[in-house]
Amino acid sequence: SPVDGKYDYVIVGGGTAGCVLANRLTADGGKRVLVLESGGNGGALETRVPAALARLFRHPTLDWNLFSALQARLGEREVYLARGKLLGGSSATNATLYLRGTPADYDAWALPGWGAGDVLPWFVEAETNSKGASPYHGSGGLMRVESPRYVNPLHAEFFAAAKAAGLEANGDFNDWGRPQEGFGEYQVTQNNGRRADAFQTHLKPAMGRPNLTVVTGTHVTRLGLESSGAGKPRAVGVEFSTGRAAQADRFTAELAPGGEVLMCSGTVANPQLLMLSGIGPEGALRDLGLPVVAAAEGVGANLQDHPATLFAALSKPEYQDMYISSEIYGIGGTIRLGAIAQLLLQGRGPLATTGCDRGAFVNTRGGSGDPDLQIRFVPGYALDPDAIQSYVKYGQLRKEGKAWPGGITMQLLTARPKSRGRVGLYSADPFAPPKVDLGYFSDAGGADLATLLAGIKLARSIAEQAPLAKYLKQEGWPGADVQSEADLEAYVRRSACSGNALVGSCRMGAAPTDGSVVSAQDFSVWGVDALRVVDASVIPTIPGGQTGAATVMVAERAAALLTGAGAPRRGGAAAGAKAA
Ligand code: FAD
Repeated sequence: SPVDGKYDYVIVGGGTAGCVLANRLTADGGKRVLVLESGGNGGALETRVPAALARLFRHPTLDWNLFSALQARLGEREVYLARGKLLGGSSATNATLYLRGTPADYDAWALPGWGAGDVLPWFVEAETNSKGASPYHGSGGLMRVESPRYVNPLHAEFFAAAKAAGLEANGDFNDWGRPQEGFGEYQVTQNNGRRADAFQTHLKPAMGRPNLTVVTGTHVTRLGLESSGAGKPRAVGVEFSTGRAAQADRFTAELAPGGEVLMCSGTVANPQLLMLSGIGPEGALRDLGLPVVAAAEGVGANLQDHPATLFAALSKPEYQDMYISSEIYGIGGTIRLGAIAQLLLQGRGPLATTGCDRGAFVNTRGGSGDPDLQIRFVPGYALDPDAIQSYVKYGQLRKEGKAWPGGITMQLLTARPKSRGRVGLYSADPFAPPKVDLGYFSDAGGADLATLLAGIKLARSIAEQAPLAKYLKQEGWPGADVQSEADLEAYVRRSACSGNALVGSCRMGAAPTDGSVVSAQDFSVWGVDALRVVDASVIPTIPGGQTGAATVMVAERAAALLTGAGAPRRGGAAAGAKAA
């Protein structure tokens, strides 16, 4: 077997949360920790250079290449769902935007210990921010956060156009002393222009510790559970495989007495693994001939994401060279040496960005609520109305040595969606992808769709303002002919893609009777001993903003609970901040 001995903690998945836990739980040397990761090692070049994000979508080895089930509300399409498959997980393949959401996002969880005032000290403690220490930012955490280091002249023009369209400037979207609304820079999880994923920031510094074992290429297929008499079933280890199929290739990793399994395989794989192990909705388990070890109706339910669409406009020919693509690529599609030198020597330039690190949050509904719309401005033209497909097509163009047409894009995301989906199973085969029903636009009032329709109209209005209009020749997406409500709705349904923020499928809650899967007090799975879930899947309601920061906050809290470290020492500084 690739592992020997028994472990105090077996961490399933060396992704974002898994790397945080692996670091913290091994720090004092007292516990033996094993990390089992399906994918490969961290640190691949594509993950280091932020602009290489385009190459990570549909990547043959660094991504899971997962698609949703056919979505009836989206014209019977399967939606591609990017997920990192390597140490660092999705933090190594994401767009690096650092956003926490708002105080109201956490107060709405309505869970003791998880209100805005409770979570803020953990966000602050977790980061080292280029803004320096303040009531809302930290300077001593492992997570690296900095202001975006690539500047394109169109960023200022976007800000001026947004202002002309009626929006206000926001100097820090994570400043909880002010509303989230407005336009501005998104900070990023980068360090000097390089991606700072959880492998780099948390796992790598801990790799040399003798009490930490990290094994890649190990796909966990099932939890080892023991049911003895009338007591609760108890996790005793996990089963895993290093290959695709053969029975001979099944191994087990065992827990030492008092040990625990920590599930960190993410919002898609956690419910799949729980169900394969007999923990899940009874009916669904029986349908697939799986044993029912612990009935748990909430497993896989409550799936949330930020459904997205986009607006894009093509450049006038005389401005063709202003866009991110022409700054990166020269004749024949080769990367400009100047761009490489800028990244290496200064940590700046067009390679130091994932492209979408400026934008706005807008309340399109009026009233005083938090924004329902997020705009991500890209100084580049989307080749496809599905933003992710656009990156994929872009990769193809490059291979063919063709130029990318100049232009701008505004990615439009439902920041606080009301729709809910579900992760289920097609089969009991642990290598088969699970059945992911995204449930986009399933909310009864139609609010999520309405947000994106309002978003397209707002994006049009921003693009029509003089500062941007002077560069633009014509609208590409949805296209000037798409004007009626019906046509706009059809466009959104046919273009909707994932905002890459899957959360909630193992929701934490206050009691086993409230439909939750794990306890919000200690992350333990209701009804099972020695088993906890710690990652994005426990987030009960999606925050308005990308989900990586909240995932690290959750993992830091779990680590402190397990090590007995308690609340952040910096709580004092943060206590002065307005959070509730
Ligand atoms: P992950 O980090 O995905 O980790 C799960 C790990 O488990 C992976 O390494 C996986 O390979 C492994 N695994 C899965 N199944 C098994 C198994 N059976 N056995 C062993 N290992 C297994 N967030 C932001 O904050 N800002 C952004 O700009 C942003 N953009 C995003 C863009 C994309 C394309 C994606 C995919 C995500 C983005 N996110 C962003 C979201 C953010 O990255 C995630 O919310 C966060 O990384 C989730 O962390 P996690 O620990 O729950 O899961």
